[in-house]
Order: sequence, then C-alpha cells, then structure tokens
Amino acid sequence: MTLATRKFDTLILGSGGAGLRASLQLADAEARVAVVSKVFPTRSHTIAAQGGVNAALANVTADNWHWHMYDTVKGSDYLGDQDAIEYMCRAASHLVYELEHYGVPFSRLDNGKIYQRPFGGQSQQFGEGGQATRTCAAADRTGHAILHGLYQQNIRAKTNFFDEYFAIDLISDKDGNVLGALVMEIATGEPLLIEAKTTLIATGGCGQVFRTSTNASINTGDGMAMALRAGVPLQDMEFFQFHPTGIAGKGLLITEGARGEGGYLINKDGERFMERYAPNAKDLASRDVVSRAIATEVREGRGCGPNADHVMLRLDHLGAEIVGKRLPGISETCRTFLNLDPADTPIPVFPTAHYVMGGIPTNRFGEVVVQHGNNSEELVNGLYAIGEAACVSVHGANRLGGNSLLDILVFGRAAANRVTKFLKGHRYHKPLCQDSVDKAMQRLQRWDNKGDGESVESLRSELKLVMEQHCGVFRNEEVMQDGIQKLKAIRDRLPGVQLKDDSKVFNYARIEALELENLVDISMSIMMSAGARKESRGAHSRMDYPNRDDENWMEHSLYYLDGDRHSTKPVRTKPLTVETFPPKERVY
Ligand SMILES: Cc1cc2nc3c(=O)[nH]c(=O)nc-3n(C[C@H](O)[C@H](O)[C@H](O)COP(=O)(O)OP(=O)(O)OC[C@H]3O[C@@H](n4cnc5c(N)ncnc54)[C@H](O)[C@@H]3O)c2cc1C
Repeated sequence: MTLATRKFDTLILGSGGAGLRASLQLADAEARVAVVSKVFPTRSHTIAAQGGVNAALANVTADNWHWHMYDTVKGSDYLGDQDAIEYMCRAASHLVYELEHYGVPFSRLDNGKIYQRPFGGQSQQFGEGGQATRTCAAADRTGHAILHGLYQQNIRAKTNFFDEYFAIDLISDKDGNVLGALVMEIATGEPLLIEAKTTLIATGGCGQVFRTSTNASINTGDGMAMALRAGVPLQDMEFFQFHPTGIAGKGLLITEGARGEGGYLINKDGERFMERYAPNAKDLASRDVVSRAIATEVREGRGCGPNADHVMLRLDHLGAEIVGKRLPGISETCRTFLNLDPADTPIPVFPTAHYVMGGIPTNRFGEVVVQHGNNSEELVNGLYAIGEAACVSVHGANRLGGNSLLDILVFGRAAANRVTKFLKGHRYHKPLCQDSVDKAMQRLQRWDNKGDGESVESLRSELKLVMEQHCGVFRNEEVMQDGIQKLKAIRDRLPGVQLKDDSKVFNYARIEALELENLVDISMSIMMSAGARKESRGAHSRMDYPNRDDENWMEHSLYYLDGDRHSTKPVRTKPLTVETFPPKERVY
C-alpha cells in the first residue's frame, strides 16, 4: 500500500491559541504552513478560557512589566526560568495591543481603554504596593474572543488547515531530525504522512488524566506523549494546578475573575476563611494557596452541604448588574448545570484539576531541548513546542491566572520567528527513515483487531481514579508509591484492550483508544516525578515533606519513558537584563 503524503515547510500540531498564533506569524512570512487539529480549530480548549490575559497596560492601576515579572517568579515558587519570564512579561503589552488590532473585542473601561481586572498573585511595587489590576478581559469569554480573532486572521493569511485529523506520532530520520508526523483523517480513518522541515507541537494540556477536571475531553496530552515516544523527556510534570473553584462534583470552571470582581469564599459557618490563610491577598492569593485552604477546610470538617465536601463562593453581594455584565458566561453555566443564579445564590465549589505546568522542555525560542550532563543543552533538530504542551518554563511550580493565554501568544510568536530563521537555512526536505513511519503505522494498526478484550472506557476510568486518589492536592510517599504500582498494572493491561467496533469511518472509539495510550504515559510521568520530588513547592504539596527545600530541589525534574527514568536540570535564575529575584519565603 502506498501511503498518501503531503509536503509543507512547517507542520503545526494543534490549533489552539498557541498553534494559531504561530501559524499566523509563519503564513504572514510566506511559509507553507499545515495546521492539524483533531477538532475544528475554534473548538480547541483555548475557547474555554474565561478570566483573561495578563499584561501590565496600567489602564486601571499603576503597573509595569518588571512588577509582573516579580509576581510570576514568586508565583512559580522560584522554579520558573527567569530569562523566559522576563521575555514574556516584556512582550505582553505589545501582544495584547496586537490582538486588539486583529479585531479581538476586549471589554472597555469608560475611557475606552481595554478593561482589566485584578487576579490572584498580582501586586504593585514588587509585592509592597497592594493588589495590581493586570488581567485584560473580554467579559468572562476572553479565550473565545482571542481564538476566533486568531482563526479569522489565519483564514486571511491562507493557512492550510487539516481539520479533524488526529496526529499519531512524529516521524524522523536516522540522526533524530524530526521531519513531520503521521496523522489520520478522522472522517475516513485513512493515514496521511505530512512531511515538513520543522514540526511544532501545540497540542495543549492533559487534564483528562484526572477524574474531575476543568479541561475539555480532548485534552489528553497527545503531543507530550508523542515527544516521550520520540525519546524527549517531559519536564516538571509533578506540578499540576488544581483550580480552587471548579463546580463541586462536576469540575466546570468558575473563573478566578469571579473573585477578581469581588467574590469571596465561605465555609459552613459562613466564615471568610481565606483571611486566616492569606491575611493580605485573602481570596486573591495564588491558586495553590487557595486550593490547599479549601481542601483543608473540608478535611477539618468545615465543608458545606450534606456531605460537608465543598465550600461556597459568594457573588450575591455584587449585584445583578456587575454579575450580568462582567460574568455572563459563568452565570449561564450556573443556571444550566446547577439551576441557580449566582447573583442571588452562592456557588458550591471545590479544587479541580486545571492546568499542567510541566511539559516538553524548550528554551525561550520554543526549540525543544534535551539535557546532556549538568549544564549543556542540545536542540532536537526540527522540533518545537509551545503552549500548554510545552515547559519553557515560565510557570515553574505554580502558574498565575491569566499567564497561560499570555504564554501561548508570546511563545507562539517566538517559535514561529525561530522556525522562519531555520527555514532560510534549510531549503529542502530531508529523506525520512522508513522505520519511523512503520512504527507509527503499527501504532495505528494495533487497533484493527476487534474482540472481547477489556474496554478502553473501563481502563480509562480506573486510570483517572488512581490519579485522583493517589496524586491530588495533598500527597505523600506511601500513597504515591501505591499509585505507581497501580499505574504500572494498568500499563501492563493496555495490550489486552480491544475495540468492539474497528470500522474506519468517523470511529471515535479508535481515537479514544489512541488517546488512552497517551494518557497512560502522561499519568506515569506525573506520578513518577511527584514521587521523586521530596519537598513541597507550588502546586506540589507533600504532607511528609511540608517545606520547600531550595538546597536540594531548586531543580527542574525530567521524566524519560525509557525505563521510567528520572533526572534533573538546573533552574535558569539569571534574567536577560535585570537582577535575579532570589528565593524568599512565599507569603500572600
Ligand atoms: C476552562 C479553562 C479556563 C481557562 N481560563 C484561562 C484564563 O482565563 N486565562 C489564562 O491565561 N488561561 C486560562 N486557561 C488556560 C489556557 O486557556 C490554556 O492553557 C491555553 O489556552 C492552552 O492553549 P494551547 O494552544 O496550548 O492548547 P489548546 O487550546 O488546548 O489547543 C490544543 C490543540 O491541539 C489539538 N490536538 C491535541 N491533540 C491532537 C492530536 N493528537 N492530533 C491533532 N490535534 C491535536 C486540539 O485539537 C487543539 O486544536 C484556562 C483553561 C481552562 C481549561
């Protein structure tokens, strides 16, 4: 059988905000760009982003990029790379204005400038000047506005879209140069080989490894797992952000913007408990702090409801006008899923898996890097990664709200500029290695033998439960070691899983099977890295090692699929032009 093949200058896997910002830059630079997405581009998870995007525009309070940088370094619990953080915070205002010019309909202040709201972990004067107001918003549908703006600009720029194509694996040559990917058209089940001089992974996050998550069901970490299979490690996967305010039991997100607009949390006694955990920032402390506070209230018996298993978010004091104008999306969510109006009834909330700080290791140009020895890094030729799939690392151990929409714009553009430069020096496609094509084809064909083996669905449910029970907000050695054994047993059962229907046309069971393989590898990377890190930092909170240990653990962790190997690499503490922010105790 001859395999259908297409050739492009550059292949982008994923059409969320990261992929579309990169493809726009490349198409405008006249590169031949292919964008592959397993869903129609504007259904990517970026569409769900509510609260906004951070930039020190100073439209509401005094602000500048250096304060934003300080907050991001502190928020990361000093694990973020300070060169990349400086780069991101300096670029922020420019990139937000650029979006405005693309036609993104930001909300407005009375003076006509872009509306900004306060978000968690934001400060003026390097933490000394009180709350900053830095998050630029289009009501509570900011991601929707941005993704549509970027998609329309890509249509203008004539980007080539492969909508509803599923990427299976990267293709390379014998020397390890990445030369494209094998993908499958979902409508027909037919494979297609896309050859490219550069390949950019922008496949987003992996929240689906947990049972309760704010993430879309498509967020299965496919690109990260593809990188793992290609021998690239994943960095800092133990740092998984639990958003403090998911709807209890359901996981749907209630944006931090709700607290930014003045909402606050109460326990069963009606107490504003955040005053005890973060006396200054209170409900706008950083996310890891608020999530732990809620989990602690519930654990100590001060939870609400018949099972005392959640707390309440109050917005009813804000008035129907503010709630309707600034938070229309979450009002609709509450009416649809809880049958309540947040303008007069508090919302039941509990921490929910939300965002992976870790991912494919890159430098601040989006180039994928692997570590050799302690201080030397080597590029993986032709491979780039951006957005939630990547770990630059600007979020370190804990991401600040509003910094991910920024990250996808800044590094989407930076990576595209780097690709453009690469293309100038590499005018021809390299011949690929048939072995790597065969391997990817085998992965697809493995699901051709239907039978009565274990189902995808039962193994996946078990996996998510193991992750929830063994690697949640609070962790300890015994529970995680037990979890690792359970994950290994699940991995061993994978070869016995079979489809009941192996037809080709629009067979989503086949897609879910391919996703399950990815989820298993990603779960292992999270649990193994969490087991290895013997300290508490940012979102990684261990009962048996409650303190941060800068002496031994001021290091990024790396997980390799091969032998479940763990290693570390140094944090880049030197910014580009300013002084380093040295580690301090993190109080809010
Ligand atoms: C509910 C919610 C609210 C959020 N709110 C905010 C906010 O207010 N502010 C903020 O800064 N951040 C927010 N975030 C985080 C932020 O939205 C995301 O981290 C960011 O949008 C990710 O963008 P991305 O382009 O990396 O990935 P995504 O937008 O997730 O896009 C991934 C793309 O990859 C494609 N893909 C994946 N696997 C495959 C495959 N195998 N084959 C082909 N295509 C594939 C998908 O089809 C999709 O096009 C929020 C996240 C959630 C879940």
